[in-house]
Amino acid sequence: MNVPNRKIREIIGFVRKELANQGGKLYLIQQRNFADCDEPAYFDVSNSTPIIKVAVKGRDSFDYLTLVLHEYSHFLQWKEDSVVWNDTFLGIQDVYNIADLWIRREMELTPRTKKRIFEALANLEYDAELRTLSYIEKFGLGEYGDVPKYIREANAYILSYRMSMYARKWFSQCWKRRLVEDMPNKLVNKIYYEPAAAFYQYYPDEFLDTPVDDSVKFWQKVPFVPEVLK
Ligand SMILES: [Zn+2]
Repeated sequence: MNVPNRKIREIIGFVRKELANQGGKLYLIQQRNFADCDEPAYFDVSNSTPIIKVAVKGRDSFDYLTLVLHEYSHFLQWKEDSVVWNDTFLGIQDVYNIADLWIRREMELTPRTKKRIFEALANLEYDAELRTLSYIEKFGLGEYGDVPKYIREANAYILSYRMSMYARKWFSQCWKRRLVEDMPNKLVNKIYYEPAAAFYQYYPDEFLDTPVDDSVKFWQKVPFVPEVLK
């Protein structure tokens, strides 16, 4: 369902003003994504000016407004100098970049550093989704979109960072419908057996060359160890 124009103006106006107070800007861009499905929106502050870009083409207003609020939540994490934000740096290095180098097999990481990095990424997104949901409620957006589905997709997204540590692959954000259906309707920031198993079930190729290392110990505690990790 489409969000009424006055509501769209209210939300966009609010975010623009908050960003402007920090010298920043919101861009709504007429394209579908920034890199295939992987990046429908992002927050960037690398040049010390906070920028939010959201690809709006082909999205209904509920979808792009929730993207705006999600990125706005990252802006708040940065502005508040929050623990979850600061945890995404190792020294001056952004942990996402380190994770990406590891996933592309351009560097190796100790199990401890790996855990530290992927935890930070998942925690950052979990915190952002909690904030996003509170803004969805504040602006009464629930009337115009499927919030439980939003939550299931958010869970897939948060969990995908944790699963990337096992798979050594990034997961696309073009989620398979059945994966989203198998996610919980309440926001969670931990791997639970069933949602994790859903990743194995719907993305089997991503786990083909999963290295067996200490991380496997986690799986030995769950009642069923996925075949790939035995
Ligand atoms: Zn995010």
